[in-house]
Amino acid sequence: MSGVLLPACAIFFSSLLALVYFLKERISLLENKMYSVMIISILFDSILVTLLQSFAYGGVTPIEKMVVPILNKIDYIFYIAFFSCLFFYTMIITIPNFKNNFKKYATPFIILNSLAILFMFFSKVQIITIDGNYSVEGSAVNLVYILCVIYTLLSIGVTLFNIKRIDKRHIPIFAMIGIMIIILIIFKINPYLIFISAALTFINYIMFFTIENPDVKMIEQLNLAKDAAEKANHAKTEFLSNMSHEIRTPLNAIVGFSECMLEAKDLSEETKGFAQDIVDASNNLLEIVNGILDISKIEANKMEIVPKEYNPREVFNSLSKLIIPRIGEKPIEYNMILSEDLPGVLKGDIAKVKQIILNILTNAAKYTDKGEITFNVNCINRMESNKCLLYISVKDTGRGIKKEDIDKLFNKFERLEADKNTTVEGTGLGLAITKSLTEMMGGRINVVSKYNEGSTFRVYLEQEIVSMEIPESSSEEIEIDYSAITGKKILIVDDSKINLKVACQILKPYNFNVVTADSGFEALSLAKEQTFDLILMDIMMPKMNGVETLRQLKEIEGFNIPVIALTADAIEGTDEKYKSAGFNDYLSKPIDRYLLNKVLNKFLGGKK
Ligand code: ADP
Repeated sequence: MSGVLLPACAIFFSSLLALVYFLKERISLLENKMYSVMIISILFDSILVTLLQSFAYGGVTPIEKMVVPILNKIDYIFYIAFFSCLFFYTMIITIPNFKNNFKKYATPFIILNSLAILFMFFSKVQIITIDGNYSVEGSAVNLVYILCVIYTLLSIGVTLFNIKRIDKRHIPIFAMIGIMIIILIIFKINPYLIFISAALTFINYIMFFTIENPDVKMIEQLNLAKDAAEKANHAKTEFLSNMSHEIRTPLNAIVGFSECMLEAKDLSEETKGFAQDIVDASNNLLEIVNGILDISKIEANKMEIVPKEYNPREVFNSLSKLIIPRIGEKPIEYNMILSEDLPGVLKGDIAKVKQIILNILTNAAKYTDKGEITFNVNCINRMESNKCLLYISVKDTGRGIKKEDIDKLFNKFERLEADKNTTVEGTGLGLAITKSLTEMMGGRINVVSKYNEGSTFRVYLEQEIVSMEIPESSSEEIEIDYSAITGKKILIVDDSKINLKVACQILKPYNFNVVTADSGFEALSLAKEQTFDLILMDIMMPKMNGVETLRQLKEIEGFNIPVIALTADAIEGTDEKYKSAGFNDYLSKPIDRYLLNKVLNKFLGGKK
């Protein structure tokens, strides 16, 4: 009876495993199907072996002599199924395209199995009994034995030939192959030891607890899906970012030429009005493009914090100057209240601070029709740690936000009350960017709002105190002393003919002697022959970009001409980037007149 013990245990454990496995929610994967076949095969094998062992107890009767070989042969089908499925399993997790071509690859093996089964049924099985245990011998047994050895060797071969693709999923496969070799050897040495079912059940358990646990598989699949979604999202962001960059270049021409038209003497007021409309529309488009570029940079973690010293009073004043024209003709009273305690000089990422405040001020101007907008800056100065907690709030008496919409407010591309928004331009990116920028700097943003009454946006930001003393203001209007710069020789380098034309037009009023080059190579040869007072250099040029051209220019003996980077890439911290690449300054396209004047003043000494 002892011969029944191990197969009976195998029935118990295999049923338990089948119960747990099949009752759990699973993902339909090919390897799972193979594993299912393996569990079922060994469950039936255990049942058959137990049955056969109980028959043999007390000697084999003539009827049993007839039935036992047939049951044995049926049992062998389960072995073949188990070993071939294990081989397929190894193939699936090792060979990348096996899964997709499963039918094609598996068919020869399925034919081989069918032939073996057919042949086995016509082969002999001989029963041998010793001490109440029985065993079987004969060509059918040898055939199954050989087939199982072949599948085991194939599994080893596949794994070893693809050693580079081996990962943690193969560890149990190695363990199982080891156990199988032991089983096959023991079986050959001592066929009376009825432990195969138990050992194969053990293999199924190893697989369950390592690579086939449905929960773990589910998590793995979810992770794969998440990775795929993240990749797709990344591709989308990259696409948007590239598109935005491409849009900035033609925009440069549109804004540039329209501004030139505004300054032209021989155009009618009506035409100039059209030109102004083009400038306004282009600036709107530019804002959208910049928003997309910003959000893509935030998502790609490419946004860097670039701290700089700044005069907060000057900055907040300049933001107010920008926002007043936005309010336009609307009956709105605009107030700015700055705390007396505000330090004279702070240090922080001023470009981002400006963008945050400008976004919420712009929204207040956009979504308020009448009443008041109050821009308030308070601060708590912690002198012992040289830190200043800025407490910025923008209060409006605008349309307000419904309670249920507050949570959506900071989602990207989310605009509330689309029907009301038809007349208000926007992308729904502003607040998403504002929140990301604030949090990136360790700050917080919140909003309190009453529908139809108004909203208050509050931003808390910590900045470093550099000095409490208020420096002399330096934000006077920049005027150009044309007589000082007339005739100065400027080299503009850009691969786009239209951009060269725009730049020439923009520089026309300054009466420079302008020379153009449409490649880095031409710029180099011109710089070797002639001297210039200033070079404006595009960055993205084919074959030799602006950075490389500058590097080679600097190799020319005695070269000391200021070189300004001209770029459609308005990445935060870009000026640092270009300055570290050796440029004296940088201007982004479309060229802003105010910034251009600043640069010209600085490098050509034309300041009044
Ligand atoms: P956009 O202004 O480009 O639509 P934002 O992300 O800046 O995108 O704002 C998202 C939405 O939040 C806006 O579409 C608007 O419905 C709402 N919103 C933002 N600021 C205010 C405000 N001050 N008052 C009322 N609604 C606002």
